[in-house]
Amino acid sequence: MSGVYDTTVPDHRRKWDREEYEKLAQERLKELEDSSDSEEEIKIPVKRELLKPRDYKVDLDSKLGKSQVITKTTPAAQQGGYYCNVCDCVVKDSINFLDHINGKKHQRNLGMSMKIERSSLDQVKARFEMNKKKKEEKKKDYDFEERVKELQEEEEKQKAYKKEKRKERKRKAEDSDDGGDPDMSAIMGFSGFGTSKKK
Ligand SMILES: [Zn+2]
Repeated sequence: MSGVYDTTVPDHRRKWDREEYEKLAQERLKELEDSSDSEEEIKIPVKRELLKPRDYKVDLDSKLGKSQVITKTTPAAQQGGYYCNVCDCVVKDSINFLDHINGKKHQRNLGMSMKIERSSLDQVKARFEMNKKKKEEKKKDYDFEERVKELQEEEEKQKAYKKEKRKERKRKAEDSDDGGDPDMSAIMGFSGFGTSKKK
């Protein structure tokens, strides 16, 4: 470490005595090897369950838009904000509440560690298979809906076409009729242009 430029000014940074610490570590390891049960104690202080997904829906908006009077003596559970009954604490907003219930402290209070179960190959395969099936089913549904929609559109087009035809026929009949009934036109308040509205 002693540089070419500066050998007189002492380095103020702390240096680890590597050799010393290595020796300590070796000793510690040896100690652990000697007593096998204490090793387990050190490695697994508390055996917690693996992290599990929630099986309930988080209620974030049931108190939305509601007013409530709170005093100094109001229990935490009834105060404004989100109350966690596991940890007995109040969180002020939904984002922080979600953070809280997904957080380490809360999971620990629930008796879970933050470790998740490692999926086996078979589980992964099964999940892929399931998703594939789901996708196919969705596609089938979609195809069916699409088909119904197409048929409806076709029907509407047919109706519109028929209506147009009818109108046309009527117009032609009226044209040959010389503009229809003039009295009726006068009553309806118009005359001289297409009387397609007339029945
Ligand atoms: Zn909590």
